[in-house]
Amino acid sequence: MYQIKEISDGKYVLSLDNHVEVAAALAAFCEEKDIRAGAVYGIGAISEATFRFLDPATKKYVDKTFAEQMEITNLTGNISRRDGKVYLHLHITASRRDYTCVGGHMLSARVNGACELVVEDFRGVEIGRRFDDETGLYLYLF
Ligand code: FE
Repeated sequence: MYQIKEISDGKYVLSLDNHVEVAAALAAFCEEKDIRAGAVYGIGAISEATFRFLDPATKKYVDKTFAEQMEITNLTGNISRRDGKVYLHLHITASRRDYTCVGGHMLSARVNGACELVVEDFRGVEIGRRFDDETGLYLYLF
């Protein structure tokens, strides 16, 4: 699913295998390393991705899938735990064939080419999630 190189204490470089789903691979890596809190960033190329938009007025999610080849111009996110399980909060910007970009809260993305990430494990730190009624979001729980 991925190749790993630990570059310093708690800091990893990941190379995801072709055709894997980015969020699932990242979650598997976080489970493997028992990461409780951290950060992730990276670049890559994908052939399909689903983004989410939360309408603050209705608190309803609007999801959209883009089935086309795109470059990940930036993937940024954080790692925490919700009810003990890995909780990834990922945002992405991706560029299309015509160099325009789409982006949003990332639900999933399928690697088509390469995906190179840096993951930082905030070792010794626990960050959870709690549901917030006002925003309809699972916010950080410190
Ligand atoms: Fe988000």
